[in-house]
Amino acid sequence: MKKILLTGGLGYIGSHVAVELIDKGFEVIILDDLSNSELFVLDRIKEITGKDIIFEKGDIRDYDFLYHLLSRYNIEGVIHFAAKKAVGESVQKPLLYYDINVSGLICLLKALGDHSIKKLIFSSSCTVYGSPDSFPVTEQTPFGDTPSPYGKTKQMCEQILEDASLIADYDIVSLRYFNPVGAHPTGKIGELPKGVPNNLVPFITQTAAGLRDELSIFGSDYNTPDGTAIRDYIHVVDLARAHVRALEANLGKYVALNVGTGKGHSVLEVVKTFQEVTGVNLPFKIVDRREGDIPEIFGDTNFANHKIGWKAEKGLAEMLKDAWRWQKSLLK
Ligand code: NAD
Ligand code: UDP
Repeated sequence: MKKILLTGGLGYIGSHVAVELIDKGFEVIILDDLSNSELFVLDRIKEITGKDIIFEKGDIRDYDFLYHLLSRYNIEGVIHFAAKKAVGESVQKPLLYYDINVSGLICLLKALGDHSIKKLIFSSSCTVYGSPDSFPVTEQTPFGDTPSPYGKTKQMCEQILEDASLIADYDIVSLRYFNPVGAHPTGKIGELPKGVPNNLVPFITQTAAGLRDELSIFGSDYNTPDGTAIRDYIHVVDLARAHVRALEANLGKYVALNVGTGKGHSVLEVVKTFQEVTGVNLPFKIVDRREGDIPEIFGDTNFANHKIGWKAEKGLAEMLKDAWRWQKSLLK
């Protein structure tokens, strides 16, 4: 059985990937410092899969810890989720973001090199494209201006990985996630935002649950059909399955793949669909645009389809239904 290390594996995306990997017969080892996750998630993954999981608490920037962890287990591949991800916070704390996201990756690459581990999947983001002006974006769309340190760390990390792949026999895949939403259909794992959510879907579900008074829709004067901004929302389980496919594929050296649905939805469409599928009325108001937001982005996913035989299967209604089931489970 192949052993795969998930850094940041107790987080939102990592926990869903753990479930899909175990389902496909992989053995999973999770490394996490619990800075943005909770230990109960480990039990939930075990409940869903019925399998044991090795957990190691530690920081990705600690080379000795990583070195010894990799020495203890015969790890064949690594999926690197551990990073900070709040765009606004990255403007306030740029050094922390460069340290964890960029220095953390370099530390991991050194430890992998010292154990001759070649297979690495990296969590990148469509934020690397900045604010593109033609759609859908393909992997050939050049990196754009991204105002936040967070976005810059993803660009830097991809550059580091591409350069590293030139000098060693690596098999590295960067997955450029679009907007991951939803939760596991069992309602046992999902997103656990700390404090007031920055992201649209957790804000919607918390408002529907009565934890927030109303949703603010940031801007209705964009050049889009209904004036609100457009994103490519992808179900977290579809996203998780792309990781399994990327691990199983032998792509060689370095490749970056878009992981989205290829379809854009406006904020108003998301709100309307949420109300339709849950039957819950959602109070909202239109406010000014949020600083740094781009009007529109959605991805061309043909390359991922061709390279790893993967395509998203779940639509917006399912994403929102599953997000709502998860939110309700948190209220119990
Ligand atoms: P998350 O915060 O839920 O998960 C990240 C996990 O990493 C957490 O469990 C956290 O405790 C852990 N972690 C953070 N710093 C660490 C460190 N120094 N050492 C060890 N563990 C550490 O985030 P997520 O939504 O699951 O995102 C996972 C990855 O995907 C991140 O790299 C993120 O930038 C990227 N990404 C996320 C989104 C999104 O919308 N969620 C979009 C694009 C890319
Ligand atoms: N958004 C919104 N209200 C919120 C949160 C987000 O109108 O409370 C909008 C945001 O302006 C963007 C879309 O929803 O157009 C998706 O935002 P999110 O923060 O989830 O992801 P982003 O694409 O910005 O990373």
